[in-house]
Amino acid sequence: MSRIASVLLPMPLPEAFDYAEPEGMGLQLGDQVSAPLGPRLLRGVVVGLREAAGGNRPLKPLEALLEAPRLPPGTVEFVQWAARYSVDWPGQPLAIALRGARAPKPRPMRIVALTGAQPARPTPARAKVIEAAAQALSPPDLVRAAGVGAGVVKGLIDEGVLAVSLVEAVASFDPPDPARAGATLNPSQAAAADGLKAMLAEGGFGVALLDGVTGSGKTEVYLEAAAAALAADVTAQVLILLPEIALTQAVIGRVAERFGAEPGEWHSDVPPPARRRVWEAVATGRCRIVVGARSALFLPFANLKLIVVDEEHDASFKQEEGFIYHARDLAVARGKIEDAAIVLASATPSLESLRNAEQGRYRWLRLSARHGAAQLPDIELIDLRESPPDPGRWLSPALVKAMGETFARGEQTLLFLNRRGYAPLVLCKACGERMTAPDTDSWLVEHRYSGRLVCHLTGFSMPKPKACPHCGAHDALVSIGPGVERVEEEAKELFPQARVAVFSSDTAFDAREGRRLIEAMAAGQIDILVATQAAAKGHNFPDLTLVGVVDADLGLRGGDLRAAERTYQLLAQATGRAGRRDKPGRALLQTWAPEHAVMQALAAQDRDAFVEAEMAERELAGLPPFGRLAAVVVSGIDPAQLEGFVQLMAQAAPNSAGVEVYGPADAPLGLIRGRRRKRFLVRADKAVDLSAYMAAWRARVRPPAAIRVAIDIDPYSFL
Ligand code: ADP
Repeated sequence: MSRIASVLLPMPLPEAFDYAEPEGMGLQLGDQVSAPLGPRLLRGVVVGLREAAGGNRPLKPLEALLEAPRLPPGTVEFVQWAARYSVDWPGQPLAIALRGARAPKPRPMRIVALTGAQPARPTPARAKVIEAAAQALSPPDLVRAAGVGAGVVKGLIDEGVLAVSLVEAVASFDPPDPARAGATLNPSQAAAADGLKAMLAEGGFGVALLDGVTGSGKTEVYLEAAAAALAADVTAQVLILLPEIALTQAVIGRVAERFGAEPGEWHSDVPPPARRRVWEAVATGRCRIVVGARSALFLPFANLKLIVVDEEHDASFKQEEGFIYHARDLAVARGKIEDAAIVLASATPSLESLRNAEQGRYRWLRLSARHGAAQLPDIELIDLRESPPDPGRWLSPALVKAMGETFARGEQTLLFLNRRGYAPLVLCKACGERMTAPDTDSWLVEHRYSGRLVCHLTGFSMPKPKACPHCGAHDALVSIGPGVERVEEEAKELFPQARVAVFSSDTAFDAREGRRLIEAMAAGQIDILVATQAAAKGHNFPDLTLVGVVDADLGLRGGDLRAAERTYQLLAQATGRAGRRDKPGRALLQTWAPEHAVMQALAAQDRDAFVEAEMAERELAGLPPFGRLAAVVVSGIDPAQLEGFVQLMAQAAPNSAGVEVYGPADAPLGLIRGRRRKRFLVRADKAVDLSAYMAAWRARVRPPAAIRVAIDIDPYSFL
């Protein structure tokens, strides 16, 4: 009897395709296969197997069973669940899950080994090489290890005493040692760690919210939980998710120190061959700890027992392009599928997680003080209406004075401004023209380091013109407003003796450069660091005692549902960098609206009052976490066709109790890369299966080829 294999392909296709299993292939669920699609052969995954009933139309046979690790059942189920939840094709999350499997293999390594032949002419140098050759090294490493000239090694190879062979580079991933001693936990840390260990000991799915102020030692606590998970089961795997690549670097170091072995590293800066190594080692269970960014959640874990989502409130966990998902929410779903424990850690948890904790769905473990002698910083507001910076300057006299005192004491300052580049707007003072991107509704941001004007939405860039492209006036283009590069310039002018550096995703363009800057800051080699959020979260800088927030109101402008929450979280994180050791820290927030509830809550360090007020507002409006939202962005090139289609879509929205559909409306960002955009917003009661509703809606309309419909469950962006 022959069998039919359902194969999911990593492509935007609505469902798995059926193929005939060739005689003797012996397929199992999760196998990676090569499947024909039109003229192409694609890597796919077997998600179903059934006996062929007679009389079916003949199916194309599969081309081959690939020699590659099988996707574990939990991964296959998770991929399908994620697609259903996000109302997207299952091939989209599968493509993320297979990213490592499709990466090129690491190149084989050249290794020198002894052949057993004796050298015709033994010398002390040759003896050193022969001794070192026991370690299976590459030729240059052998030269280095033996401390001899390259000619000695070459001579021995020519003589046949040593032979060079190519071996496949297999990552070893030393097993972590959970028995190694960690930090001695203080009593409240120990209580929180016990809470996590109790959850792990119960076994199965469970979620804990590790809610501790900045510097309380949340990392130490969750590493204890990781140790417990690894110790309880020699095949157990642990995943630690972080919102920023810069943060993964710091946590990798702490994991390596705690367990005596490097964890697997997973994010977009990891080179493809290394990614493939991690992917295969995770699938086969050899890699037991992974530290990574959000897409690590799609790795093929063989026996996942614990997922930590560190800085769980962070909006960077939301993937907004391609397959749209929120890694925190999907982590909880994956935990349910894998029967794993989940730890959500934050100093400023999301309202969603706080609500779940309040309602008893999550274990709530709180750490209310910093570890040891460190104290939370004093937070003061600088009212810019009373104490404005000089014209063309961005740092107020009060902040400059505090910076001077800090510098004089040999301590460090962090200036936080969540804006990359030099100036957010360039304008012609002759004709008033604002420099905008050619095909997108956005201002071009000036970058002085590169001398270019850049669109932060699409990456479009052009050299800064000498003359206004509109009126032709020369030397009339002026930079408006500050970005980090401009604040750096000001800090350098104010403190010429200070070592000033800037950290943003443009300046720390890869993980290694980011790590170098963070290490330099931690080692006290920088006096003033001007940083965007890429460096203002999670890190420990022992000599940092002053945090200056250049524009505290920035995130509140053009506010959406989460503007206040996000601003509170970001500023609590940034100010939380100050005062990490025994030296007291200060944070100064420059604001035009000191009376705003967010500023008042920050200054009073009263998170609970802020959360309570924010929750009450959301509850009244039926917004998350009390209700559910979904957004639909419809885009097209031709305005008339787009308008016609969104009207059709509006009529096709199913009537359903507890669901309200708003729109279509022009998106605030009405044009991106030449495509016009319209939006719908859907609000639903908590009990509604919003994914099912959206899927039903989508099934009722068929967009023309030139129109794109993107569904975003639980949107974070309203642009
Ligand atoms: P959080 O993640 O809550 O901000 P961390 O875990 O990074 O806090 O801890 C802050 C700092 O305090 C780190 O430098 C950490 O090594 C140190 N620390 C925390 N707990 C302990 C402990 N029990 N013993 C020694 N050092 C600790």
